[in-house]
Parts: sequence; C-alpha cells; structure tokens
Amino acid sequence: MVLTPTSAGATVFHRDGIVAVDAHGRIGWVGPADLHPAARPGAETHDLGPEIDLRPLVLLPGLIDLHAHLPQLPNAGLGAGLDLLTWLERYVFPVERRFDDASAAAELAPAAYRTFAAVGTTTVVAYGAVFKASMDGAFQAAEAHGIRAILGKVMMDRITYDERIDRSTILERSVRESEELCRRWHGAADGRLGYAVTPRFAVSCTAELLRESAALAARTGAWWQTHVSEDAAEIVEVGRLFPEALDYVDVYDRAGGLGPKAILAHGVHLSDRELRRLVETGTRLAHCPSSNLFLASGVMPLARFLEAGLVIGLGSDVAGGPDPSIFSVMRVGAYAQNARRALAADRRPVLAPLDWLRLGTLEGARALGLEATIGSLEVGKEADLIAIDAGLTAPVRHVDLELAGTGLHTPGHPHAGGVFGRGDDPSDIASRLIFRPHPDMVRGAWVRGRRLEGPGSTA
Ligand SMILES: [Zn+2]
Repeated sequence: MVLTPTSAGATVFHRDGIVAVDAHGRIGWVGPADLHPAARPGAETHDLGPEIDLRPLVLLPGLIDLHAHLPQLPNAGLGAGLDLLTWLERYVFPVERRFDDASAAAELAPAAYRTFAAVGTTTVVAYGAVFKASMDGAFQAAEAHGIRAILGKVMMDRITYDERIDRSTILERSVRESEELCRRWHGAADGRLGYAVTPRFAVSCTAELLRESAALAARTGAWWQTHVSEDAAEIVEVGRLFPEALDYVDVYDRAGGLGPKAILAHGVHLSDRELRRLVETGTRLAHCPSSNLFLASGVMPLARFLEAGLVIGLGSDVAGGPDPSIFSVMRVGAYAQNARRALAADRRPVLAPLDWLRLGTLEGARALGLEATIGSLEVGKEADLIAIDAGLTAPVRHVDLELAGTGLHTPGHPHAGGVFGRGDDPSDIASRLIFRPHPDMVRGAWVRGRRLEGPGSTA
C-alpha cells in the first residue's frame, strides 16, 4: 500500500501500489501496480528494476521534524509540568553543557539520528548546543548516517551556560563560529545537510545578537530558527528585556529575522497582530503540541492559525516534548485540539487524521521551502520514505534494503478489511498510525533511497 499527500492538495492511496526509485534515489514512478508500464502486455519487466515485495507494509513519505534539540535527547521525559524558564535552568542547560566537544557529539549524535529514523523521521531540524566543536561533530555524524538534517549551533549572549567563555567576546565569537559552520555545512552532502542560524530565544539574546544572526542568515541563504511566545512567564520577561518592542514577534521583526527562511517554534499565545505579521512576512511556524502540554505552556489555536494562512509544520521539541515520534506529536496535537474545541468554545472543525499526516510531511517540507524535493511520494521527488507495519499482521520481517534502482511493490493484504473494520481506507490507516501506534511499527526509513540505520535496530 502507498499512502501520500499530493502537492495538488489531495491524498493518494494505492492499495496495490508500486513506488519505483531510480539509480539517483529519485522517485521515477508511483501508482497502482496494474498501471505500471512494466505490467503492460509485452512490456520488458526489467523496466521496473528488481521488484521488492513489501507487503503488508504501508509506504508513506518520511516524517519531517521541524524542531528538536539534539543534545537534549538523553533528557526526554524529564521535568514534566515545570515552567519553561525553571525547566531550562534545572534540566536543559546542564545537559547541553556536556555537549561541548567532538567526542560528545560522536557519542550522542549518531544515537540521536538512529532514534529519529526509528520513529520515521527522515528530516530533522535541530538545535545543537553553544559549542562549535560538537556542532561540527553533529554534522559529520549526520553526513555518515544519511538522515536529512538542518542544524545550527545555539547562539546566546545575554545568558549562557558556557562557563569558560570570555564575556567580552561572546557576541563576536558566536557569530564568527556560526558563520564558519554555515560555510562548511550549508548545502553539504549534495544538499542533504543545511545550516540554520540559531539564536536560542529573545530571553537569552541581545538585540544586537538577534540582528547579527538574521544578517548572517540573509547573506548565506541559511535558515534562521528560534523560539517565540511559548510560555506566559517567558512572554513577560521578553517584554521587560525589550521595552521598545510592540510584542514578542516585533523583537524578531526589528532584528530582521522574519521571512520564509525563518522557523519559529511554538507561537502558543500569539496576538492577532503577531499572527498577521507572521503571515505577511511568510514566516514559518513549528507547532510542538506535546512540548506545549508537557511544560504546561498552553494549547495553540491551530485551526485559527491555519485559516489565517500561516505555514505550519510539526516539531517534537525533544526534550521539551518527551517523545521524538512525530506520530506521537500528531496524536497529542489532535487531543489538544479536541479539548480546545470542547473547552474554549472554538467551533472550528478539528483536523482529521489525513490532515495531521499532511502537516507532518508535505507541510513540513513547505515550511522549509523543500516541497519540490521531499514531503510526498510523487514522481521527480527524492525518495525519502518510510515503511510502516500498520498492524495488519504480525510479525513482519525486518526490512534491510537499499532502494536505489528498485521498484517497491506493496500489494493489498487479503486480511486488511477484517483488521480495519470498515476496510483499508486511507483515513482509517492514518488514524491507526496516529492513535494506536506500536513501538516498532516503523520497519524501514530511507533518504534518497538509501536505508537509514535505526528502524528495527534500536528496539
Ligand atoms: Zn525548543
């Protein structure tokens, strides 16, 4: 089975589907098996390449995590219910302080990428720590692992956990090191790796650092990522530190940070003015509902923001979010929106399972400006995809295949109707993956047709 959102706004489902991946790791053909050119009478069957039978797995586009923190993965699940600023001091700064050199990165980053791949994430956008050497190591590990990664060294000059830094050079050094990393890694691995200039958030950055960071992103073509409007106490603190700004979004606007290459995480409490300004500038939002509930930050009015035209993808925000799985983020997000509809008298319709799947794939790609490259299983795109055991049968063999130059055949399973009750309907499949997952349901993950280490190997 093949299930994917399409660029035209639809969802395509092929019960007996084939995805053909060419030698360059691009999708050469996708559709029902009986329409494949190789299936025509008299066709040369080798047109398809070696055919791999993946039944009863479902092929989906790889998931896109727009917001995570690499060094925080060991903390996942710790500190529930603390407010943001206390949680940062107690849990986050100590663990990031340990992510300080190449050996720390060599130990932690490969495990982090395996963890992401094991939950179906093929593109991760992540913050590192403030240390350049560990960021270099994190990029090297991503290059070797094969995951698609957009990473950035955290910039902080107002408060920092780096006890050895010379305060008089902190801003200059932070910008210089970010630029060196950006020059080395932005666009590396033939475009599979990218750099995001990463001022942590307004509380830890001066206006000058925010300005310099935005200028760096503009002159290098890199992304620019930070946090916004996550928690009530944080918003009060930003107002105190930036009295000249109209509101939180205006702090970043004055720095020149907003625009289509800017990815702001959270935005839980945005005012109408802030929302309008983000839409006007084409700024992207990483919605992180599991983090927002874990740290008691609030419930973002997702339906209203989408209606306003904001481009939104999903983020795990590990370890603000306790679980790196984007399926889990979809589930918590759906529950949060259901609760909001019931309690906040917001009568906008909630998103359906296929809408959540689109947010975690194609909309994430759109947020990155990569919608022509990844985010759906469509001809010409790079073959970033995952194979899922949706619970049709058990057990399923481990999938250990390189895909380049192959055709993936996923015939419909004879028992599918019985398992799903109403039949193997795409909405039911998405609903099952989101609301009734099992820990090792991701059986394979590929980027450009190359298998990622992780699925099946970390259980
Ligand atoms: Zn975060």
